[in-house]
Amino acid sequence: LRDRKLICQIIPFENRRQILVTHDATETDRIEEMRRDFIANASHELRTPLTVIVGFLEIASSGMQIDPASREAHLKLMTEQAHRMQRLIEDMLTLSRLESMDYPLRSEHVDVPALVESIAQEARALSGGKHEITTSVDGPDVMGSTEELRSAFGNLVSNAVRYTPAGGKVHISWTNNGGGPQFAVTDTGIGIEQKHIARLTERFYRVDKSRSRDTQGTGLGLAIVKHVLLRHGGTLTIKSEAGKGSSFIVSLPKK
Ligand code: ADP
Repeated sequence: LRDRKLICQIIPFENRRQILVTHDATETDRIEEMRRDFIANASHELRTPLTVIVGFLEIASSGMQIDPASREAHLKLMTEQAHRMQRLIEDMLTLSRLESMDYPLRSEHVDVPALVESIAQEARALSGGKHEITTSVDGPDVMGSTEELRSAFGNLVSNAVRYTPAGGKVHISWTNNGGGPQFAVTDTGIGIEQKHIARLTERFYRVDKSRSRDTQGTGLGLAIVKHVLLRHGGTLTIKSEAGKGSSFIVSLPKK
């Protein structure tokens, strides 16, 4: 019972006897704390871009003379911050949809080879030719939600590009690995120290906040991956070495 929070209540019973009722509140407390942390983090993440936007709007409406070049720069920064808020809200909505019991999995036949090809194309656009992005596909088609798997696989691949310096490699594979179908993304990027790995799928957990933001991260990508996999009965394995690169491996159940 160590580390558990027990709520005890003594209720008088007949004949001067008493009943001791205990209730384990550890789990409810933990969920409450997670909810509080999420709201605090989300508010903070939204406040930062909003502060930039409000600051510039105040200057612009104060009647102060702004030269065209700095006006241009301000508008660019405001647009970037607005997009950042948009991405955050999209990811928060996706997460809450995935968590909702009222949103059942719409299972269909998923053409994974086509999915991998389209995700690789998007990754090449994101990379702007700065990475070598390759694919190998010989796994089976599976049942699941194409939209959700696109989001999970897409997040893993865009992370691989975002956390791999120019000149690095990203390999995407879809194989049939004895135990079942496997989607894997391997990169030659910055890698992750062992101590962070277990916490990466927590919402807003980032190894390096500024790098995440500079590369348009919301801190919710891997939390989305985790929820999609929970709904599909899949698992995520992360192997990484700091400074060398990472592999994110998704195992899905056999048909
Ligand atoms: P973010 O939007 O910050 O990328 P994610 O939830 O997708 O959020 O990832 C959480 C954190 O995990 C990232 O901030 C980064 O520190 C780390 N990470 C994810 N993928 C990789 C990768 N391929 N290589 C190195 N670090 C990664």
